[in-house]
Amino acid sequence: MKQNAYLKCIDPSCGLEYKIESTRIECEKEHLLDVKYKIDPSPSLKELFYQRRNPEGSIFNESGVWRFRELINFCQIDSDSLEDCATHLVSLDGAEGRQSKPYHMSKVADFVGLSQENLWLQPEGYNPSGSFKDNGMAAAVTHAKLANIKKIICASTGNTSASAAMYAANENIECDVYIPAGQIAPGKLSQAYQFGAQIIEIKGNFDDALSASLEKAKEIGGYTVNSVNPFRIEGQKTIVYRALEYLKWNAPDWIVYPGGALGNTSSCGKSLMELYQWGWIKKIPRIAVINSDGANTLDTLYNGKFNETKLRWNKGKPDTELIKNYYSYLDEKNIRPKTKATAIQIARPSNILKALRALEFTNGVVDEVSDQEMLDGMSIVGLNGFDCEMASGSVPTGIKKLISKEIIKNDDIVVGILTGRQKDSSLAVEYHNNPENQFAIPPMI
Ligand SMILES: *Cc1c(COP(=O)(O)O)cnc(C)c1O
Ligand SMILES: [Zn+2]
Repeated sequence: MKQNAYLKCIDPSCGLEYKIESTRIECEKEHLLDVKYKIDPSPSLKELFYQRRNPEGSIFNESGVWRFRELINFCQIDSDSLEDCATHLVSLDGAEGRQSKPYHMSKVADFVGLSQENLWLQPEGYNPSGSFKDNGMAAAVTHAKLANIKKIICASTGNTSASAAMYAANENIECDVYIPAGQIAPGKLSQAYQFGAQIIEIKGNFDDALSASLEKAKEIGGYTVNSVNPFRIEGQKTIVYRALEYLKWNAPDWIVYPGGALGNTSSCGKSLMELYQWGWIKKIPRIAVINSDGANTLDTLYNGKFNETKLRWNKGKPDTELIKNYYSYLDEKNIRPKTKATAIQIARPSNILKALRALEFTNGVVDEVSDQEMLDGMSIVGLNGFDCEMASGSVPTGIKKLISKEIIKNDDIVVGILTGRQKDSSLAVEYHNNPENQFAIPPMI
């Protein structure tokens, strides 16, 4: 196959390019990288993707990630050849993305104030390790294999490590996990242990754990699988493909995500930019990112709450000084991110620039919600028979909030991504034992 895929710096005034086998996560000038493809895929592939839902014995058709392999073909394989797929593509027996598609949830629709038909929620918790991270991890570990890597490294608020450790165990490679000591939900930490990862406990928060892991990776030439890894972003594009395929490629008005390190926001933006450029979609959905009010860097900077300047991608010339100043301010005042939704307890979102690009392309919005609101959001999803974790609870509540502000209109079509399933069972038990909570069903004594 002809060389089609390569890496390119996201900064338009820099634009350095690298071979696809490169294990860099940034260019020489420390800008993030994109995976790029020279050839535009034909819209006729839509039919093939649909047919693969009858997998005919191929786990790569079963997989909700690799079913779309022509759109993320950075291995440059013959995508029809089962043998080529099996040699290159990393999959947990086709399970990543297999069960995730958008659903209607009547009680959530009532809660947010949309008609049932207009609200779609996609539970990415129904992935093999229990979060959307498996979409990106399958792709990142595939690239690690391409680059002949024997050890992957990550920092994690929990779900990244669960996913990385699961694929590493399955591929028989090593996995080092940097975690903020004492700040990981037990259900997530236990997965990393159980899948045989080496845990490295860091005093501090996720941002500290990430810097420690990136430093270590630099020192030993390790392969980082956090969402700064551009192949993570490629795999996570399939979250959007599955939603759009289900809507017959009619773009909704909104796609809504929780905002943590902003990998999801970035991948959603990249997938929409590409689909639009290829002519696969005619309309561009708007992205809404929902921060926790205890970890709200994007909301603060995007909405001009720090010094009135609204941080924008600005056609590739974002005000990076503003970001630096804000981080210095956080350090000076000793302000640490604080929320019970540990998956999004992040003050320095490493993908912030890619996220700004995504927001600019989609005319996106950013808002924030409280812990109580996320718990309510999580609980109303539960009452529809789907479980999600607290960070994902920001999605229903965020939609509700944006409707009350008339940013989302009540006849808009909205797709919300429920990023992970419940792994901190104490939160749900506590919630229901307090009769003051809106959706609590306390035990009978
Ligand atoms: C990682 C994670 C997030 C944050 O996603 P980003 O891409 O880092 O913004 C949100 N929810 C859950 C459940 C997660 O595991
Ligand atoms: Zn660059």
